[in-house]
Amino acid sequence: MGEKIYLASPHMSDEGFEMAYIKEAFSTNWIAPLGPNVNEFEKEFASKVGVRYAAALNTGTAAIHLALRAVGVGEGDIVFCPTLTFSATVNPIIYEKAIPVFIDSDEETWNMCPLALEEAFQKYPNVKAVIVVHLYGLSADMDRIMAICNRHGVAVIEDAAESLGSLYKGRQTGTFGEYGVFSFNGNKIITTSGGGMLVSNNKEKIQKVRFWSTQSRDSARHYQHSELGFNYRMSNISAGIGRGQLKVLDLRVAKKKKIFEFYKRELGELPGIQFMPVNLWNEPNYWLSCITLDSKIKPLEIMDALEEENIESRPIWKPMHQQPYFSWCDYIGTTVSERLFESGVCLPSDTKMTDTDQERICKIIKGL
Ligand SMILES: *Cc1c(COP(=O)(O)O)cnc(C)c1O
Repeated sequence: MGEKIYLASPHMSDEGFEMAYIKEAFSTNWIAPLGPNVNEFEKEFASKVGVRYAAALNTGTAAIHLALRAVGVGEGDIVFCPTLTFSATVNPIIYEKAIPVFIDSDEETWNMCPLALEEAFQKYPNVKAVIVVHLYGLSADMDRIMAICNRHGVAVIEDAAESLGSLYKGRQTGTFGEYGVFSFNGNKIITTSGGGMLVSNNKEKIQKVRFWSTQSRDSARHYQHSELGFNYRMSNISAGIGRGQLKVLDLRVAKKKKIFEFYKRELGELPGIQFMPVNLWNEPNYWLSCITLDSKIKPLEIMDALEEENIESRPIWKPMHQQPYFSWCDYIGTTVSERLFESGVCLPSDTKMTDTDQERICKIIKGL
């Protein structure tokens, strides 16, 4: 069996940027949540994506949760979100006892379908917030989605957990809505071993989020609380890793693009294979290279054949409206997301792969 190839694994800088920041944290004994790396990471991150303020948190999920609270989502409120996503997009809606309504994808972006969104607004005019996701680094159709949400006066939260470094018409995803959410989980394009970021141009709200994320301690000598708190802050060590990783983000995006183009060149001619849609207005980070199949080869066959050779791959996200836990929720749309799930495969997209690794993968797929 050949050497293991991962779907997407942590990739530290060749220069050791991350370790230098960690060492600094050790030598100053700043092994705690908060600290200089956290403050600097927030500033550097905000400037990288082009937004005024950022709050570093311990997960992307926590960032979605606090974004919902910042919008004022509470018990019984309706929140629209795409059905084709990771459950972490939706779970925080339930944490707040709010009600998710799932929106179908469109073929052009794989993300929230503007037509289905408009239909959802007709059915639920009193919706409180809309969460838009940029799956696999492909940006959603933001002009149309923002126009619809602005017309209805509803706040947009962008779940850009998978799309750090992706551009929509030249602008970073995660900076269109009132709030943008990023993740630094181990499999994301850059990682802090686990972490998240909430960004916004609203200074007061970001300050509030930092307050909530550190147990909502009022300024007093004793422990005084007038609001519910959370322990969601990023640690100074994680932030050090993040500062180092941010320096190689552009390199990682370039490599991910090269991986995608390699697959396209090698597999593009196979009958019944389609690549994820890259639109003219979209400059993705190519977090994962995804394909759909309408041929005699089934996604499961590809995944099994790769697994036998010690190579990781995975299906496209299973739609939330098909998940047992969310079966009670309403769903607006047709069958686009279901078909993407049934026909899709995420190919190995690890930035440490060599051309030889990718040749190995393509040979297996071509041999089916
Ligand atoms: C990874 C991911 C998240 C959650 O991020 P964590 O840092 O793992 O909590 C949220 N949404 C999407 C679409 C993701 O892929």
